[in-house]
Amino acid sequence: MTPREVAALLAYVVKLDPRLALDDQAAAADRLAQWCDLLSDVPATIPGWDAARVARDHIARSPYRIQPSDVSRPWHAHKADTMRRHVGTFEPTAHPEISPDDETGDAFVAALRAERSAVASGQQAPVTHRVITAGPAAVQVQRRLAELGTYLPPTVAQTLAAHRPHRAQRERLAAAGLPDALDVACTYCQAPAGKPCRARRINPTTNAVGHRAKKAPHPCRVEDAHAHHAHRQEQETAA
Ligand SMILES: [Zn+2]
Repeated sequence: MTPREVAALLAYVVKLDPRLALDDQAAAADRLAQWCDLLSDVPATIPGWDAARVARDHIARSPYRIQPSDVSRPWHAHKADTMRRHVGTFEPTAHPEISPDDETGDAFVAALRAERSAVASGQQAPVTHRVITAGPAAVQVQRRLAELGTYLPPTVAQTLAAHRPHRAQRERLAAAGLPDALDVACTYCQAPAGKPCRARRINPTTNAVGHRAKKAPHPCRVEDAHAHHAHRQEQETAA
């Protein structure tokens, strides 16, 4: 909190609990300085956290006069809880600054740290999904990853992901046990399994018909992939 935010918080708690009012200017200044110091690393408001609300709840529930620690302690608990929920499943596609040629891993570590600190300070929501690693679903994940071809150690695959977004997306869907449109052929544009959907492109000078890869699959292909996925899951559960 900035000194201005701390001053606003103090004014608010004094309003809620008039016993906290100080007549002496010097004492009030001392108290403000003390609160500023102790709450400098506590945000006023971020998504999921509101220091004024925490102070209000304390005053509503506790017979004791509020201390800065009554705000900072809940903040550290909140932060720890957020970090517990953040599984740190790193999305390298969100970090184009990481070069696959960087053998030191410095950029990777720096990006990972930046992400953790952004989560800790509430600037970024925690990533709560986990990759499936055990049970019958994991067998299916292994099978799908094997079908996608050459296996790379996850760390290498993650570093390369930014440079092959299609492949990275397919691996993510497989790891999360979700349907993947590219598992089936498209009945609309006739793109075969494994290849992205395509849009026709006509060369204005030669009238030659070409194709370009579309970013999103055709909706009918997504539906087919869901049916295919459900069918395979049934088969594998039965097996
Ligand atoms: Zn298509």
